[in-house]
Amino acid sequence: MKIRFWGVRGSIASPGSDTAHFGGNTSCVQVIDQGAMLVLDAGTGARGLGDYLITSKAHSLKDVHVLLSHFHTDHICGLPFFAPLYQAKVNLHLYGPKGFRRQPSAILASFFAEEFFPIAVTKLPAQLDFHPLGNETFEINPFQITSFYVNHPGSALGYVIQSKQCRIAYLSDHEPMKQYQHIKQSTLLHYEKLLLEHLGGVDLLIHDAHFTDAEYPNYRGWGHSPWSEAVALAVSCRVKHLVLFHHAPTHSDAMLKKNLRQLQAQLKKKKSPLKVSLAREGTTITL
Ligand SMILES: [Zn+2]
Ligand SMILES: [Zn+2]
Repeated sequence: MKIRFWGVRGSIASPGSDTAHFGGNTSCVQVIDQGAMLVLDAGTGARGLGDYLITSKAHSLKDVHVLLSHFHTDHICGLPFFAPLYQAKVNLHLYGPKGFRRQPSAILASFFAEEFFPIAVTKLPAQLDFHPLGNETFEINPFQITSFYVNHPGSALGYVIQSKQCRIAYLSDHEPMKQYQHIKQSTLLHYEKLLLEHLGGVDLLIHDAHFTDAEYPNYRGWGHSPWSEAVALAVSCRVKHLVLFHHAPTHSDAMLKKNLRQLQAQLKKKKSPLKVSLAREGTTITL
């Protein structure tokens, strides 16, 4: 399995000389196995991915599967600029959380409304199929995918993706429930059990690390994790490799590198087997 990062930033795209190393595009991750492909989120990184898919012809675009974690703008704002949407032969399958109030098709139709974008969703050349998801397991050959609600404002999903060789998890936007409870339908005990069940022993966890530990107390309830909570979750779930993701727009390359060095030194001191790295646009992890 290959995991390629096209956008790793949270909240808003943040290009500039101080973010050029890790990248300024918002969430978009490509997962490839046995020639098949999944796209996780369609932030601004989806523009580059879409152009690459058209020019490289590396994958069949007959059926393109885009799994959205949720509909906050940083995760969908690349969609109108995703080139496969403008190809008549493409069947684009969009997966996203069943809304508590509106379904994914209605949410995206309003995102493409003429006040925001000149082309209506019904006028797009590609065929669009919506797949509203809750807590469930399904297959997109050769992947087995489990979606589950995660603790974040509104309705948001985490995904576990399993192939023959490995299992990865993607929790792009996630706040520890013990800090702030967004999902009122669950209890802390039940939620922590659910996370352990889904994430236990995964080969790779791509996880929200939007805030530093020093910043987090000022942003409790915003739906994101401080670094230490992402690490604690990975340790308790015996994750092999934690990839910190959804970097804050204000976090410069220098700051991210410094914080990673400190974290790796702490883990080494504790003799922790956990491998931690920072998601970086343009890089590929091979499992
Ligand atoms: Zn986000
Ligand atoms: Zn969000």
